[in-house]
Amino acid sequence: MAPSLTGWSVKPREENRFSDPRARYSGLMLDPAADLAGLFQAVVDIESVSGNEAALADAVEQALRPYRHLEVSRQGNVVVARTDLGRPQRVVIAGHLDTVPLAGNLPSRREVRAGEPVLTGRGSVDMKGGVAVQIALAAALDQPRHDLCWLFYDNEEVAADKNGLGRLAAADPAQLAADFAILMEPTAGLVEGGCQGSLRVVLETAGRSAHAARSWLGRNAIHGLGPALAVLSSYSGREIDVDGLPYREGLNAVRVAGGLAGNVIPDKASLEVNYRFAPDKTLAEAEAYVRSLFPGYALRVVDAAPPARPGLGSPLAADFLAAVGQPARPKYGWTDVARFAALGVPAVNFGPGDPNLAHTDDEFAPLSQVTACRDALADWLAP
Ligand SMILES: [Zn+2]
Repeated sequence: MAPSLTGWSVKPREENRFSDPRARYSGLMLDPAADLAGLFQAVVDIESVSGNEAALADAVEQALRPYRHLEVSRQGNVVVARTDLGRPQRVVIAGHLDTVPLAGNLPSRREVRAGEPVLTGRGSVDMKGGVAVQIALAAALDQPRHDLCWLFYDNEEVAADKNGLGRLAAADPAQLAADFAILMEPTAGLVEGGCQGSLRVVLETAGRSAHAARSWLGRNAIHGLGPALAVLSSYSGREIDVDGLPYREGLNAVRVAGGLAGNVIPDKASLEVNYRFAPDKTLAEAEAYVRSLFPGYALRVVDAAPPARPGLGSPLAADFLAAVGQPARPKYGWTDVARFAALGVPAVNFGPGDPNLAHTDDEFAPLSQVTACRDALADWLAP
């Protein structure tokens, strides 16, 4: 089916609100059966910076509760809507409700850029286009080919221990049990397999403080970082093929600290290093590799997120990839596909919006991509 452009006309946003006057005034109701452009815009306009997802979670829950083919449950600001049609296989389709903080970029605006209708505003790329598609399809697909679990969760953009999907995986892993998972993170409508892992370590050096006028009496801890910085500046990232996808790696200083005053030889310094690695390694292997690069340094791991292999070999993933009809790409960055991979569920990223625009102040998504993602999923899941 060719992408339908129905509803993607460009009008001032007031004219694009739902006809239900309550929606106009509260701004907090979502109609899954509304045209997708209006639904997308309404989702974007319910502000949901991490920690403030309740209004959007309420709206999603209220929008899906009336549909008899869905069993809707709510845990905190996680909303789960499941079908139970006795199908032999189950697919989880997940998206996070939260965004990074606003930058004067709400409410959203419809514009035409490079001849194409787009929606601007915080979350328009990451990842409310995907959330709008989830809401629309959860309601519309009452006889899907596979049983479905639609998952909407909070706190993806902040520390991992707050992540709603992680909390659900710990508290009720049966909800995530599936044969395949699709995470609707922005991929510009392509299938992105797996994800990189991320390791952050802090290197610490110790010296001896002294008056800067008599520096020979001390030992400068900042200078002690020199060899580590030399390793970093001469590092060139590998490109590694994993299951047919090329993953690039990066090793970078991301923070440096040290120094007490302008006339004191510092006795402490630290350097934070972030390693983004391909999914051919485990976290433990990544840590061993980083330690091997900085012999002699006291090194502390401060954050570790495991990678996920692309998982494109699973039958449902291959079938989905064929349905989308585009070659898969590797995922640069860490996403929650790793949580599914850790549970043994093959998972891919697939959603509207250019991932390079995620978290930028001027994020915007072409409306045609949102429609195309909906149509691709609807076709694949048709009975
Ligand atoms: Zn995201």
